[in-house]
Amino acid sequence: MLIVQKYGGTSVGSIERIQNVAAKVAKTRSEGNDVVVVVSAMSGETDRLVSLAHQITGTPSEREMDVLLSSGERVTIALLAIALNNLGYPARAFTGRQAGIVTNSVHTKARIERVNGERVLEALKHGVIPVIAGFQGISEGADVTTLGRGGSDLTAVAIAAAIKADLCDIYTDVDGVYTTDPNIVSEARKLDKISYEEMLELASLGAKVLQSRSVEYAAKYGVKLRVVSTFKDGSGTLLTEEDKDMEKVVVSGVTYDRNQAKVTIVGVPDKPGIAAKIFGTIANANIVVDMIIQNVSQESLTDISFTVPRSDINKTNEIMKSITKEIGAKEYELKEDIAKVSIVGVGMKSHSGVAAKMFTVLAGEGINIMMISTSEIKISCVIDAKYTELAVRTLHKAFELENSHKGT
Ligand code: ASP
Ligand code: MG
Repeated sequence: MLIVQKYGGTSVGSIERIQNVAAKVAKTRSEGNDVVVVVSAMSGETDRLVSLAHQITGTPSEREMDVLLSSGERVTIALLAIALNNLGYPARAFTGRQAGIVTNSVHTKARIERVNGERVLEALKHGVIPVIAGFQGISEGADVTTLGRGGSDLTAVAIAAAIKADLCDIYTDVDGVYTTDPNIVSEARKLDKISYEEMLELASLGAKVLQSRSVEYAAKYGVKLRVVSTFKDGSGTLLTEEDKDMEKVVVSGVTYDRNQAKVTIVGVPDKPGIAAKIFGTIANANIVVDMIIQNVSQESLTDISFTVPRSDINKTNEIMKSITKEIGAKEYELKEDIAKVSIVGVGMKSHSGVAAKMFTVLAGEGINIMMISTSEIKISCVIDAKYTELAVRTLHKAFELENSHKGT
């Protein structure tokens, strides 16, 4: 088999752990497989680099941030290749550029445009294990780019698609995808399989197991993707196309996201073009808006609330300062201590009353809902951050996630 193995930050967090990864890769190789490895930076390293820059300024140049952050993964590819060579397994480290990953030029969250897998395939042909730096690529203009936080997953999937790997294993510090965060709910259950569609919702809603764009990419190119533990043997969770059994379960998972911030613009003139102006400006700054709510207008003034990633809060603040003036709104407010709690399941397509049940459950705990958004297979509520754990625990119980038998 041709297997891509991706190891996350905790899996390569020390020299000892890098040697453990080398041993696992060597084992897979000695069993007769071809292996391509993708690694993250050592755990905490990317955060450390970000904070170094932030000691200088809150708004560092994004091009230079990419040069800085891409260095984390260069360290781990070199060390892992050295460790593999030391075990007698020829290996070679490749940066994103050397691995043929070409992106657009949107720094700090570049999108992959194409992958030229030739060098990687060439290495494999010579019996060499390619060890590829996750999270990075090169723009047409030859600048180093990064793919957004957690982007090594995407690198692994994109490489797997390009070289037509049989399997892409994401090795991490958990042994699969759970019905919710086991740190909050001890009864959380591991799923043996989950549909791409559900995983995509879970991932983009804040379940940190897989980066959401990697799931999107895997679904699009049909990459067989599996989440497995680096530290424990097990079959992990396999991502698949939706099947009949999955529809029977109304809710597959409960998730939360504490990395959003809420913006409210008060006293917005209610006339055509205003929303386009606000969200056009935000989009031009490459800030991804999630939920949007516009209230009913009173005396031709309205309020608009929306959420943005908390990491974009400084940029958003700058934009809000000028845009509120420009559109003649009264004022704006930023609120950071919010959380988005969501339930996800393909079964929602064919069951009714799911939203009502969710609201009733939250109300029963006295939790106020500030914003709501829904899709075909998920319902999300923004609540006060301090109730996150209570909400997750209560919903997990109310939707009987401990007892369902999905995927088993
Ligand atoms: N090192 C990057 C991060 O911490 C990319 C990754 O680990 O996937 O976000
Ligand atoms: Mg990750």
